[in-house]
Amino acid sequence: MPIYEYYCDTCKRPSSFMLLRTTEEVNPYCKTCGSKEVRRIISRVAVLKSEEKRMESLLDPSKFSDLDENDPGSIERVVRRMGRELGDELGEGFEESMEGAFQEESATSPQDL
Ligand SMILES: [Zn+2]
Repeated sequence: MPIYEYYCDTCKRPSSFMLLRTTEEVNPYCKTCGSKEVRRIISRVAVLKSEEKRMESLLDPSKFSDLDENDPGSIERVVRRMGRELGDELGEGFEESMEGAFQEESATSPQDL
């Protein structure tokens, strides 16, 4: 799935457009301010770099200091915190799917057998 990155000349914010089909036409605009004064970003290096940084900070060991892998509650807390930091990309659906996962897990826990 091709992703096109555009950079807004007005508010200096990047916008990305994901196309479902390569034949689909893009009418680029700034998703932040609505301006049509956007430029295609050819290189994705800068974007990838910042993504890497973000993943690094997400995986910062200090964030896992209260993680006890024998305690499902603490794992859930850490996962929820990561979900919040990823924010808009995972959104509400992520929290819900995590909730479902943990509920399922506890429903089939050995204590119930
Ligand atoms: Zn803009």
